[in-house]
Amino acid sequence: MVGAERNLPYDRTAVSKGLMSGSDTIDEIGLAFPGELDDLDLILGHTAVSLDVERRRVTLDDGTALGFEVLFIATGSAAVWPASIPHLQGVHTLRTADDSMALCADLSDAKRVVVVGGGFIGAEVAAGIKSADVDVTMIVAGTVPLERALGREFGEEWAGVHREHGIDVRCGEYVASLSAEFDRVSAVVLSDGTSIDADVVVLGIGARPVTDWLHGSGLTLSDGVVCDENLMAAPGIYAIGDVAKWPHPKFGQLLRVEHWTNAHEQGTAAARHYLGVGGPFENVPYVWTDQFGYRIQVYGKTTAADLIHRVPSANPSVPRIVLYGSGSRLMAALGVDDPRSLLPLRRLIAQPDSWEHALSLVGS
Ligand SMILES: Cc1cc2nc3c(=O)[nH]c(=O)nc-3n(C[C@H](O)[C@H](O)[C@H](O)COP(=O)(O)OP(=O)(O)OC[C@H]3O[C@@H](n4cnc5c(N)ncnc54)[C@H](O)[C@@H]3O)c2cc1C
Repeated sequence: MVGAERNLPYDRTAVSKGLMSGSDTIDEIGLAFPGELDDLDLILGHTAVSLDVERRRVTLDDGTALGFEVLFIATGSAAVWPASIPHLQGVHTLRTADDSMALCADLSDAKRVVVVGGGFIGAEVAAGIKSADVDVTMIVAGTVPLERALGREFGEEWAGVHREHGIDVRCGEYVASLSAEFDRVSAVVLSDGTSIDADVVVLGIGARPVTDWLHGSGLTLSDGVVCDENLMAAPGIYAIGDVAKWPHPKFGQLLRVEHWTNAHEQGTAAARHYLGVGGPFENVPYVWTDQFGYRIQVYGKTTAADLIHRVPSANPSVPRIVLYGSGSRLMAALGVDDPRSLLPLRRLIAQPDSWEHALSLVGS
């Protein structure tokens, strides 16, 4: 197993949660118990730089060539850092444990933090950093935070939750430039000319699948490694996790999913297929995010929805359940602190005529 990071495998979801806040250490978020990886040849801190499909060989950054009979490509995604944003001290992206620990150290005496991006990572980071003595501003390019992932309606409500907790949410804004004092960021200048003072800036503006090293390999690359229904990109070569794009039978299109559970399920499915005991891969995508003590959980694919049904909770500003439908189908279901209601809905997702059934389960 080759990995570019020097750390042993760890739970990446903690990077914007316990590791960033300092409540977890890198050892506490490890994915393997001591000794569990002893049977593997682990090559950490090295990057695969090319793949020769014909000769069944992966070459590493130090020139080592590794032969293989079967290859699992799990290079994930990398945080986007736009060319227009300079690499100043105090400016961070958040993808790895090292990123998280560097941010955590920088936050220790920060008073003004600007989070650029209102997707899952931006919203989670803003919520995690906000405290009585830290001012947090979240810059959102779209109309509301989380719009692309969870729709405008929910995003609008969730922007309200962020504002209630003291976050200055600015929508429809772009970063035009950064100001600096002695190589350290001092302010963020927005497209409308407004300048916001900042000790620390976190860029949460998306990720791209890590496929650079596969250019010229002959594999089909198109916003990820394109695979068949068994997650095979070529005979004996599988792609799994954030980097894999495969034809999802229920959603009828090529999907690439940047969620933790999907990576875990695809790893298992590809290994089972290689061992001859597994078939085509199909799942109900699942993601969760923790913000302000709430846990939002989402099953399915919200983006194709043209029907929305909201079930209120006891707190008027937060829904309990949101259903997303298209035609007569339930496409996705979101729950806030309500895992029990989501379970029967999960089974209905992408089934024919499931919308009415879902409505009858949740009431209004
Ligand atoms: C901050 C953060 C918080 C998240 N929180 C949640 C959450 O709450 N819920 C949720 O569902 N999902 C969450 N996710 C998404 C989830 O972590 C990912 O979907 C999941 O980690 C994908 O796993 P993966 O194995 O495909 O890729 P990754 O976890 O990205 O692992 C890929 C590994 O491959 C290495 N690598 C890349 N290129 C090379 C190369 N050429 N050679 C060698 N090694 C290479 C990378 O360094 C990395 O270690 C979060 C992601 C981030 C960044």
